[in-house]
Amino acid sequence: FNNELQRSEKMEIISELAASVAHEVRNPLQVTRGFLQLMTEQEDNKNKGYVRIALEELDRASGIITDFLTFAKPEFDHIISLNISDEFNHIEGILVPMANLEGGKITTDIPPDLYIRGNSSKFKQAFINIIKNSIEALQGQGQIDIWAYKQDGMIKVHVRDNGEGMDEEALSRLGEPYFSNKIKGTGLGMMVTFRIVEAMQGQISFTSTKGVGTEAVVSFVEFVD
Ligand code: ADP
Ligand code: MG
Repeated sequence: FNNELQRSEKMEIISELAASVAHEVRNPLQVTRGFLQLMTEQEDNKNKGYVRIALEELDRASGIITDFLTFAKPEFDHIISLNISDEFNHIEGILVPMANLEGGKITTDIPPDLYIRGNSSKFKQAFINIIKNSIEALQGQGQIDIWAYKQDGMIKVHVRDNGEGMDEEALSRLGEPYFSNKIKGTGLGMMVTFRIVEAMQGQISFTSTKGVGTEAVVSFVEFVD
């Protein structure tokens, strides 16, 4: 028991540190990206190949921050009562523009009276990673539907897309660190999501059909005041 306590304290310190670093590192990354971008636009740029690689690597660094630390805040794990609808309003604000860029649409159907207990930043991180994958999987006429409801003392959230889908192998490797089929993937998004859901004593499952789409179901114990 004692060891466990120490371990969770250590984990807390590590995640605090990571959140602060992510926060501080993001801005200089963006500034560097801006200047490199300007360089690629210069005529007679003998170093174009190097600059291109530098840009790609910067994007990889940003991808890692997005998958891990989009909502990380330098604050101690703050467990509160979360209103699912409020959380998704915030998530939508970030993801709807991203979906629109890919020519996709997001619908949400979440009743206002669903509550669980958890950390708001981590909850949002878990779902942003799921929904970002859905957006990245979309092909023309992309559609993502998100809905939630109560069932037997649990709150269930579904995220369904009509994207490219996964075969059995991809489905079974989901959540494995560094497993990615994307050129610019980190392969960390689902690992982070699985860990957050587990830490919140929730459950997550995926069904998918190649060429048809994917559906994630995440459930948490309902919080009754
Ligand atoms: P990344 O997005 O960086 O590749 P993830 O851990 O988020 O890493 O996802 C791992 C892999 O799982 C993706 O590369 C993709 O092949 C597959 N995947 C996850 N979600 C979906 C989805 N909704 N539709 C199709 N493939 C998906
Ligand atoms: Mg991802």
